[in-house]
Formats: sequence, C-alpha cells, structure tokens
Amino acid sequence: QAGRADNFGAGPTGLPVSVLERIMQEGLSYQDSGMSVMEMSHRSRWYDAIQASAEAGLRTLLDIPDDFSVLFLQGGASLQFSMVPMNFLAEGKTAGYVTTGSFAKKAFSEAKRIGNAKVVASSEDRQFTTLPELDGAMLDPDLAYVHFTSNNTIYGTQWKDWPNGIRVPVVADMSSDILSRPIDFSRFDLIYAGAQKNLGIAGLTVVIVKRAFVLEHAISGLPSMLSYKVHLENDSRYNTPPVFSVYVLSLLLDWVKSLGGLDAMTARNEVKANLLYKTLDQSNGFYQGVASTEARSLMNVTFRLQNPDLEPSFLAAAKEAGFVGIGGHRSVGGCRVSLYNAVELEQVQRISKFMEEFRAQHT
Ligand code: PMP
Repeated sequence: QAGRADNFGAGPTGLPVSVLERIMQEGLSYQDSGMSVMEMSHRSRWYDAIQASAEAGLRTLLDIPDDFSVLFLQGGASLQFSMVPMNFLAEGKTAGYVTTGSFAKKAFSEAKRIGNAKVVASSEDRQFTTLPELDGAMLDPDLAYVHFTSNNTIYGTQWKDWPNGIRVPVVADMSSDILSRPIDFSRFDLIYAGAQKNLGIAGLTVVIVKRAFVLEHAISGLPSMLSYKVHLENDSRYNTPPVFSVYVLSLLLDWVKSLGGLDAMTARNEVKANLLYKTLDQSNGFYQGVASTEARSLMNVTFRLQNPDLEPSFLAAAKEAGFVGIGGHRSVGGCRVSLYNAVELEQVQRISKFMEEFRAQHT
C-alpha cells in the first residue's frame, strides 16, 4: 500500500489496511447512528452490538468454552499484573511465577507488593534466551496460582506447548501472542492480553476467565474497578469501556475470520517467521538469533549483528528503507522484528531481502 511503512513494531503496531479503510468509511457515521463510534454511548444499541460481536468473534476464533467469561477492561496488561494477585492471592497463600523475561518479572514484582509470591521456574540465569523446564508435578499444590507469560516480547521466546499437569490454577499473560495460534483452555483459569498487538489498538485489555475461578476464589471487598467479579456482573460496563478499541477489535476479528480463522493465522505466522529465521541462520553468522532455537518466538524475532559496531548503521539503513520499529527494546538493544498477525508475507520478504543485501554490502 503506497505511503504505508512496513511496520514491524513490537506494539502498538500495524493494522490490516482493510480494517483501517473500514474505520475511515465509518468515521463520520457508524451504520444509521449519525455519529462515529468514538462519539457514541456505551449503552447505545450500536455499541451493544459491537461488544457482542467482539465477544462472539473471540469465542468463535479461540473456541472459548462456555464456562469462561470474556471481559473488556482498561489499564493494559500491566494492571493485570496487580489485579491477578489482588483478586486471587489470599493472605497466607503463595503465588508461583515463571520468570522468562521482563514482563514476567514485572508481574512477579507486582504480586510481591500484594502478598507472598515466589519464582517457581526461571530462565534468568540464561539471560532469558530460552525457557525453563516447567514440571507441574513438582509444584506445590497449595499455590494460589501459577503465572506465566506465553510469549516474551523483549527476548523473543515463546512457549510451544501449554503447561500440563499443573494442579493449581494457571494464569497466563498472552499479550504478545494471543490470536496467533489456538489456545487449549483446559489448561488455564485466566488469560489476559493488552490489545495493541494482535487485538488491535491500545486502551483495551481482554481478560478471559473461568467464571468459577472468580466466583469461588476471588477475594471480596476490593475497590470495584479492581474486582473481576464487579466487571463480570456488569458485562464489562461497570464504567465506560474503551468503546473505540472494542470496535477495532471487532473489525480485526472479522478480518481474521475472513482469512480462514486461527489455523490459517498460525500457518501464515509460521511461514513469515520461518523466512526470517532462515535469513538469520543462512547468514554465516552475520546475523545471530538471540533466542535459542527451540524457544524461538513466531511473533518477535530478536537478533544481533556479529559485529555490534555495525548495528547502528544497520538500523539506520533499515529506517531509510522504510522499515519501522526494528530496534530492540531499550533495555536490551540489538534488533527485533515483530511479526504480529497483521504483518503480510510480502513485508517479511522485503525485510529479508534488505537484510541479505546489507550483509552482502558489509562482508
Ligand atoms: N506483557 C507482555 C508480554 C507485553 O509484551 C507487554 C507490552 N509490550 C506488557 C505485558 C505490558 O502491556 P501494557 O503496555 O498493555 O501494560
């Protein structure tokens, strides 16, 4: 699309052009409402239908079981770092955290502000370049819950299989890979994700939670806005939800469906990531992947240049060539190309070609 950058940002990131076009078409008047979605009441019939469509779309695409509720909240994934322990970490109990990256560590440190929490597995001793063993049978059955992060956005690692055999409730931060592959809900009690990667734009946090977990285990007496129970009882409309972000989500879900749903999305993501990893692996060490091969993320491809002195000119040349968002996170440096759902294969082909040319010029 002319005039559009190749956006490989880690989030926020690009949206499908057809979704942006639809937003523009409906920008002055949504259906027969005479107003844009930005301007309408969250209790209007149009928004009722938008929220219902977003929920139905998620339920269909992710095959969410009936005993789970879908909540549309605010505060980002970061507020979930606090809400999870506030709701589920009772006094006298301990929560277990699997620390596999920066966000996992942040979740752990927020839990410690609320109550007792301990690390049950970690890859910090390997600089988060891989994932630890997670043996459910070894875990203390008295834990209030275990928290893990399905995809580590900064380091570029991703759990390939969901944790199995865990006898305590399982909570997962899926901010950077939700909707990129199927989820086996039998393994989880609560998952959450900030929307600004695969679910659209910032301002919305999606929480998918087993109702019984909330009704039977959530701590009562919390401030209303921090209580899952309150949001559940109010159909995510205890207060004004992020109406526009929910609308974008509903359009995005229609787009995923139009491409063939989640299996098609997984296949597409594998092709994109394989192409880029192949570019790294066939570079004679010029580009070096950060994540260990078996833990490589399909969403965030992290790498360094063998010669670190070349990195600034690599990043500058990439920028010049129209590639956006490929500098590594400010905490780790290096390079990171994020390949969320909306990134097209042609865009990956372009950056891969660019990387090969850059290597040819500098070897
Ligand atoms: N968890 C993960 C895995 C993330 O990638 C991010 C954001 N990049 C966050 C949490 C924080 O999300 P938010 O900015 O929505 O609070």
